[in-house]
Amino acid sequence: MQEILEKVDQLKKEIQDTSLSTSEELEKYRIRFLGTKGLVKELMSEMKNVSNEMKKDFGAKLNEFKIFAETKYEGVSSTDKESANEAIDYSLPGFPSETGSRHPIQLVMNKMISIFEKIGFTVTEGPEIEDDWHNFNALNLPENHPARDMQDTFYISKNPDWLLRTHTSSVQVRVMKEGKLPLRQIFPGRVYRNETVSARAHCFFHQIEGLYIDEKVSFADLKQTLYYFVKEMFGADVKVRFRPSYFPFTEPSAEMDVSCFICASKGCTVCKHTGWVEILGCGMVHPNVLTNCGIDAEKYSGFAWGMGVERTAMMQYGITDIRVLSENDTRFLDQFKNVV
Ligand SMILES: [Zn+2]
Repeated sequence: MQEILEKVDQLKKEIQDTSLSTSEELEKYRIRFLGTKGLVKELMSEMKNVSNEMKKDFGAKLNEFKIFAETKYEGVSSTDKESANEAIDYSLPGFPSETGSRHPIQLVMNKMISIFEKIGFTVTEGPEIEDDWHNFNALNLPENHPARDMQDTFYISKNPDWLLRTHTSSVQVRVMKEGKLPLRQIFPGRVYRNETVSARAHCFFHQIEGLYIDEKVSFADLKQTLYYFVKEMFGADVKVRFRPSYFPFTEPSAEMDVSCFICASKGCTVCKHTGWVEILGCGMVHPNVLTNCGIDAEKYSGFAWGMGVERTAMMQYGITDIRVLSENDTRFLDQFKNVV
């Protein structure tokens, strides 16, 4: 008995002096003291040879020793254990960290924004969940207006007055309501329409709309602003044509085409062999819209336009399926790594 207690003291000293800095040392220690045939187990088995009156004291001593041995092992933190298990060569080069790329939609948006910023337009963003008034009524689209069908809308079942905006014109309404004139702003953002997803259409896409309101603004200002944009965006040789159109919120309204810069107007699949590509809708802001937003339509006039970003991005980068723009496939996105 005395002999065993002396051995315990001796082993404690050995444990204290043991170094556990490498994986081999750790494993050797675990086997010698804590393993199934280790010293802790072996000493515990001596209990059966101890007289009943001594059992309590002897048991306490052995328990204390067991905890002492375990604490030493557990005291080596798990990360130390891990690094001890794995020899690291610090002289090797590290793994390069992955850098992302700008999304083609963002690249095109940035370019469009910078062109308009150069001629004094500022950027305003607004909420993607809108109420019916900002998205439709204020824009001369009262309930039951047939043109509401032109934009199949996602309504939010929790509140029938809420919807996912179908255009960023709702942001135009918000800034007009603020009443700070003159007004010269662009409105980039994501919009939603309940369309069947295909290679050419998606249920969400991006727009940049613009609005200019001041005294004596005319259709000539609209044309000159958009001419400037097209030349900066697609090159000095690109031609422009306006076709009369209808939008409830502008009067007169037009759609603007640019000569196909893919085939130089010779005819290709992008321009459907017409030599022209439609890029935006525009017009003079309808007086009803100005009035709805608290602007004096007798004194002020303005123009507005709206264009999709996806189509331009697809043309510029030769993308034939709109769905790849939202699939987050890095094999696609990596191709834009060096594009600024
Ligand atoms: Zn073409």
